[in-house]
Amino acid sequence: MTTPNAYDGTCPPEPDTLSVGHPKVAAAGFTAVVKSMAHVWGEAGFFRGTRALMLLNQSSGYDCPSCAWPDPDDVRSRTEFCENGAKAVAWEADTRKIGREFFAQWSVEELAKQSDYWHGQQGRLVEPLVLRPGAAHYEPITWDDAFLLIADELNALASPDEALFYTSGRASNEAAFLYQLFAREFGTNNMPDCSNMCHESSGSALGPTIGIGKGTVKLDDFEKAQLILIIGQNPGTNHPRMLTALQKAKRAGAQIVVVNPLVEAGLLAFRNPQEVRGMLGFGTPLADVYLKVQIAGDAALLQGIMKALFALDAIDRPFVAEYTEGFPELRTAIEAVSWDFITEQSGITREQIEDVARRVAASDRIICCWAMGLTQTLNAVGTIRDVVNLMLLRGAIGKPGAGLCPVRGHSNVQGDRTMGIFERPPVWLLDSLQKEFGFDPPRHHGFDVVDSIRAMRDGKAKVFVALGGNFLSATPDTAATAAALQNCRLTAHVSIKLNRSHLVTGRTALILPCLGRTELDRQATGVQFVTTENSMGVVQKSQGKLTPASTQLLSEPAIVARLATATLGKRTTTPWLDLVANYDRIRERIERVIPGFKDYNQRVRQPGGFYLPNGPRDREFTTPNKKANFTVNPAPTNRLEPGQLVMMTIRTHDQFNTTVYGLDDRYRGISQGRRVVFMNAEDIRERGLKAGDVVDLVSHFRGETRVAPRFVVVEYDIPRRSAATYFPETNVLVPLDSVAETSNTPTSKYIIITVQRSAG
Ligand code: SF4
Repeated sequence: MTTPNAYDGTCPPEPDTLSVGHPKVAAAGFTAVVKSMAHVWGEAGFFRGTRALMLLNQSSGYDCPSCAWPDPDDVRSRTEFCENGAKAVAWEADTRKIGREFFAQWSVEELAKQSDYWHGQQGRLVEPLVLRPGAAHYEPITWDDAFLLIADELNALASPDEALFYTSGRASNEAAFLYQLFAREFGTNNMPDCSNMCHESSGSALGPTIGIGKGTVKLDDFEKAQLILIIGQNPGTNHPRMLTALQKAKRAGAQIVVVNPLVEAGLLAFRNPQEVRGMLGFGTPLADVYLKVQIAGDAALLQGIMKALFALDAIDRPFVAEYTEGFPELRTAIEAVSWDFITEQSGITREQIEDVARRVAASDRIICCWAMGLTQTLNAVGTIRDVVNLMLLRGAIGKPGAGLCPVRGHSNVQGDRTMGIFERPPVWLLDSLQKEFGFDPPRHHGFDVVDSIRAMRDGKAKVFVALGGNFLSATPDTAATAAALQNCRLTAHVSIKLNRSHLVTGRTALILPCLGRTELDRQATGVQFVTTENSMGVVQKSQGKLTPASTQLLSEPAIVARLATATLGKRTTTPWLDLVANYDRIRERIERVIPGFKDYNQRVRQPGGFYLPNGPRDREFTTPNKKANFTVNPAPTNRLEPGQLVMMTIRTHDQFNTTVYGLDDRYRGISQGRRVVFMNAEDIRERGLKAGDVVDLVSHFRGETRVAPRFVVVEYDIPRRSAATYFPETNVLVPLDSVAETSNTPTSKYIIITVQRSAG
């Protein structure tokens, strides 16, 4: 038998059950309702499941644990959720449980052979577990012993910087604030988070250009917009209730321009399941223009639109004169870019680009939305800065119906960053923590995700603690990440369910089971609620009410507080256990440390919560020069060798980040399988292949190759020389060192591959 540490972390092959049908031409509708209820009632049971759904996204209930799309400020329907939200709730409210008997039966090695879907289907974790050095099975451990074990390992380190404190975007504001406080009192800024892998590029682009690393629109701006640009984003699967906002915008007369390599059902039409028409199968057409851009050709396309705008002289000159800097330099640079370069790199014709430019020129109120399609390429930051350039040229920031909308993935990923989860903390935050808590926080920067993996690999980091998430499956270069984790003395995960990161362990490993968002959180002074921040900067209350899956579960704030107490001992004067006895006390501290939270406890109790300050919304650009800054961002030349394709990783419709709810990808016509590669028909033929063939995918980076075996070829409407595959199965192909400039985000949307017929 191999030891657990011999496992390379890759997803095991699946049974041969795949079937491929036709992609859908509209999203949601009756099927979405049927699927939602099947998940909820199947996993949580009728009564628990129905109650959970009735509380989802309600002012008196809890914030959806899935994506960060906002809820309406005013009136909310009783069914303010989508299919993905329902699946997330079903997954969490699961009535199945896995305790000591399960782990006595299943060794880590055997669990590693099961699929991610299977892991999630086993049920909720119900007690703390430890995998001791050399052991094959997890076994129970008391909470006190678990905290002592971590404390001993942390305190034995030669330097606090040998510890890593990872955060998933599910953590509440209260948990995140305590967690960063603990890490900094311990002595490190090593706080990698899932933001490093998603919208870090957006923050890196927006901070220097408009003064805040967040979007500027509110939900009701969608109804006021004349034109909505959606670039590199698939809301039908990743932020489904955005389709309701798009439907309202269309009905109010807006045009929608989509820029995306793949044709996606959710961008074509929306069958609103809250309307009879939608349930009967009548959809609202969404995209007026659909530009099937080459993967990573967005920068060239955006520059083409700007070039055409200059030719049309469609510049908002009063806005540019009053609010911006850098216009002449941008104009010179853009006018110098040739149409040949633009059309070759984007794959879009000049006529199509000029058509979009005319639509942009005819609109004063423009919203631009984007997601991972822009943030995970080599030139991600430059591309997003060109989004800003385009919007500034039209004066489309800081007025109703207009603005920037980076659509955030996990439900509180934005809030966690607001709370200080950042490996490069601003000086004001450290000064503020020092004043409030009376300790000297570390001033040097810490490790982000990619640098954390390198640090573990190189023996510079030895203890890895994760507040939620599935680090191994979320990160690039699976085998390298697995080896890095296995190089640690201790890996510890705060989790709700079993996942692959529990199976690739340090010398000792811990699983610390926590309450879910849906569950009642009772502390010493009574029932508590937590708060989160959505994609549009609204801070709101989230109160779980379901009976917890086990009496042994602790809340995330309680886990952090007890871990801090055990680790810091007499070194801390922070009253950890007092804070966690009543979360109002945590929020009082947040109010004193983080700007924008005045009267936090009062305002967050108002239905719908409150908006955080956002200068650019009012045309107050908080950059050093107090202006919105145009920037010059030379678009890279993407070149492929003969036979090569550019691959991007995507999610299925039965998946949220690394959580796999099922084995279908309904909108793309895929059933009961995940190991597929979507390719253009010409590219398939050119390689002597046909749909259904089984191929190995080989990525190429700086002379290195990485292989992901046995993927089924699927013919799809995707540009030539492009391919798409699901993660985490193909994370193994994403090289650790292939990162976006400035943001250090792994380039999961720009991987050079070749395909070769599988042997056998
Ligand atoms: S759109 Fe996002 S936040 Fe809203 S219910 Fe769906 S998954 Fe949850």
